[in-house]
Amino acid sequence: MLNIILLGPPGEGKGTQAKDLVQRLNFRHLSTGDILREEKEKKTDLGIQIQRYMNQGLLVPNEVVLELLRKKLESLRTDCEGFIFDGYPRNIQQAENLEALLAEMGMQIDMVIFFDVTEELSVQRLSGRRVCSKCGANFHITNMPPKQEGICDYCGGSLYQRDDDTPEVIKKRWATYMEETLPLLNYYEKKGLLYRVDATKPKEEAFRDLMNLIRNLKK
Ligand code: AMP
Repeated sequence: MLNIILLGPPGEGKGTQAKDLVQRLNFRHLSTGDILREEKEKKTDLGIQIQRYMNQGLLVPNEVVLELLRKKLESLRTDCEGFIFDGYPRNIQQAENLEALLAEMGMQIDMVIFFDVTEELSVQRLSGRRVCSKCGANFHITNMPPKQEGICDYCGGSLYQRDDDTPEVIKKRWATYMEETLPLLNYYEKKGLLYRVDATKPKEEAFRDLMNLIRNLKK
């Protein structure tokens, strides 16, 4: 099993890249953002608490995310080649929790890929992002518009704008990233696990770089 972490600031496109990767490779995609949104939609007490953090651009408490991730990981542990972690870990404590969780399951982190992008580009990407309410596919009103406005090209579902893709919350998400997530670069660099992809490149080029890194790891 190979376990790969995709790390980066908000809006660098790792979610889209991860979705494309699992179409090509026999990996499972684990996005804590998606897992939390799923819980939020259930409108349980936990879901309402989660929503509060997300709508302010803050991190949901570590224990909450860890328990949801553990359940998901256990339910997905079939005969895949490995996992792509997208949006987790987001701070040092989560990195340590993930290591311990994987060790319990006889696994480890094999590679961490950092998606580098500027804040300006991130804000532009996020504020125009539209997401399919049915299959989760991402579009962009100018960079990657759907064939028919408001409708998903893949499944016909309706597109919506995430509550946290507003300029105000995007700013806060960046601040949270700088403060809590950025220290992970050093953490993984020291472990010799860190690789970089230039996410300011067009999506297809960044994807090719990503595939090359993973192919080399598999050799
Ligand atoms: P994302 O979809 O990865 O952009 O995440 C959206 C929001 O979900 C973040 O701004 C956080 O509020 C929350 N979130 C996602 N992943 C995590 C995590 N690993 N730890 C804490 N909060 C998270």
